Amino acid sequence: MAIKFSKNNLLFFALFAGGIVLPTAILSFLSFRNIQNEIFLAQKTFDENRTAFQKDVEEAVHREQEKIYQETKAASLFLYEQPHSLLEFGNATAFKDVNGIEAIFLYNDNRLVYPDISSRHFYKTTDFSSVRASAVERQMFADEQALAKAKKASDQAYMARSFRMFHAPFESTSDQVQNILGMVRLAYRAGNYAEALRLLRILEQHPHLQGYLHADLTRSVNLLHFEILVKQKKHQEAEDYTLAVLTQFLQSEHIEDISSSRFFFEEAFTQILSFEDLSQEKREAFWNLRSNFNHQLGYMDILAKYKDHFSELLENELTPKDGILYSTDGPVTLFKMTYPQLSGNQVVIAKIDNEAYRNRLLEKIRAVAQSWKNIPFSIVDDKNETIMGSIPDSAAVLSQTRISDAFDWEFSLYEKDVKEIRQESRQRMFLMYGLLSFSLITVILGSFFMLRFITQEHKLLAMKANFLSSVSHELKTPLTSIKMFAEMMARGRVQKTEKVQEYSALIGKEASRLENLIGAILNYTRMEHGTGAFKWEKLDFSICAQKVFDAIEDIGVEKGLEFHTKFEPNVLVMGDYTALYSLAQNLIENAIKYTNAPGEITVSVYSEDGRGVFSVADTGVGIPLSEQKNIFNDFYRVGDEMTRSTKGSGLGLAIVKRVAETHKATISLSSKPGKGSTFTIKFKKVD
Ligand code: ADP
Repeated sequence: MAIKFSKNNLLFFALFAGGIVLPTAILSFLSFRNIQNEIFLAQKTFDENRTAFQKDVEEAVHREQEKIYQETKAASLFLYEQPHSLLEFGNATAFKDVNGIEAIFLYNDNRLVYPDISSRHFYKTTDFSSVRASAVERQMFADEQALAKAKKASDQAYMARSFRMFHAPFESTSDQVQNILGMVRLAYRAGNYAEALRLLRILEQHPHLQGYLHADLTRSVNLLHFEILVKQKKHQEAEDYTLAVLTQFLQSEHIEDISSSRFFFEEAFTQILSFEDLSQEKREAFWNLRSNFNHQLGYMDILAKYKDHFSELLENELTPKDGILYSTDGPVTLFKMTYPQLSGNQVVIAKIDNEAYRNRLLEKIRAVAQSWKNIPFSIVDDKNETIMGSIPDSAAVLSQTRISDAFDWEFSLYEKDVKEIRQESRQRMFLMYGLLSFSLITVILGSFFMLRFITQEHKLLAMKANFLSSVSHELKTPLTSIKMFAEMMARGRVQKTEKVQEYSALIGKEASRLENLIGAILNYTRMEHGTGAFKWEKLDFSICAQKVFDAIEDIGVEKGLEFHTKFEPNVLVMGDYTALYSLAQNLIENAIKYTNAPGEITVSVYSEDGRGVFSVADTGVGIPLSEQKNIFNDFYRVGDEMTRSTKGSGLGLAIVKRVAETHKATISLSSKPGKGSTFTIKFKKVD
């Protein structure tokens, strides 16, 4: 049956072509062209990405630095609140640290606001040349003589030391002091605390000697004194002593080495804080004292160490317009912050904590680098060490910039290996091709199946319509004859017995035709509803076929056909008798129907390799090759209603096919138009 294109079909094709195939084809074409340009594009994208990456890194660094400046500015405001006198030191104060900054120094109107305790001591050079050593020597000698006399003769070590002290020539005043300290230590170790303290006081009570003492030694003396007091459990005295040293320290003119002072105060404060008899109030005060003092001393230490840098930065009038000026000397980096970062005449000088500052910046750069993968870059510090990324072996440098104000970092971007770009584009190309082919195949296959489904639906509808018209025609024809003959007889018009007999026979024949037809429809519906109603048994198919043959042979004989049969006995088949009966009936009936006289029909049942075989061969009209597949479809009939001369429902072979399928039997057909057809059913072996 030819597929006719209805309006709907045309619409479908138009939509299909316009909506799916055309866009897909255009898209494929465009993508293909794009793929061709892939390498060029990849290179271009790389260049764009590289520029964006560089910009992002620079911006990230800049932003983080700005953040540090802002944090430093905020922290500098707290410095106004810091204690300035010994009394204030005992109060708790808020101190703000900035991650990345070691110390912040605040100036206002060229006056150091923080650290404050002894700003006046700095930038003064101490000249000791005026102190006359001989005077000191004399004093010490006299003291030591008095000391020696007071000592017991039994203290051998002490005596030996004193002996050396009095008889050996002094090399320097510092040596003498060292010797006195040595004696103090001996006395201290021997548990003679009173003696040790007495000696210490001699040292401490001579201001000129004090002035001469090296800062280290002064603090050693202080520490010994403090520890002896602690040993003697004179806690109150120890506290007072520490405060006295602190006052003296704050008032002193020359503070040379702060680290020894820091050590002393840290030791003293820590020990005082561990005193059990310390009142809560005092503990808090000492605690605050310690932390405030630590901060200030630590900062003073830095100020003292780098005073040249500080003065240089302070004096530098060339304030840059963003208010930040850096000064780097080896590992020490300071920056000055002025207007417009700060208001008025405020100046902040901050010392960078290299490690922390660097980590802050690197963390930001790392975050940026993570979102820009596949771009070769390196960051090299001033010591030529690669701190991030890597330097490729042979790639050309595309750009090199300095990032970070604080460090001399070189940020380089490199040419990407062309091979790498090619490989990346190739991978992308394969992926694109794959996706394209996949979508094209999907569209084509989907459309194919949809079209097939639609045409099949279409065919089925046509067949059903065909069936209805043929069935109603088939049903109507015998009914009309039956009605006509019955009416004639009822009216009494037919008198002759032979006529009555003839008509009655005709009515009977038409009725059985009707019965057959209805039987075929019922059979078919029975098959349609499955095999549930089947009664499976082992039966001799020869007997079944013989029965069918006997029942319908007459029709063929009447038509003038010649029959040949071969019913081999005991051809056992497992199956449902009624179903197999209708299979045989349909095939033999068809042979009779589609064979004109003079023709021959051969019906055979036999066994072959243990399998039952049933074949019906005729010398009839035959079936064209193109139709051979279709004739087994439901309601399918060759030709159309107008050209067909035989009656039928198109269900016969459909029933045959279904019965064969449910019995797991195979159907083969060989046929040539004009020559005849042979249908062969081969059953399954019976166990
Ligand atoms: P029906 O015979 O009622 O039309 P069938 O399903 O039995 O329906 O057969 C389908 C079609 O197959 C028939 O219309 C006929 O054209 C063709 N056909 C069946 N058997 C034969 C045969 N033995 N020789 C020629 N054509 C046949």
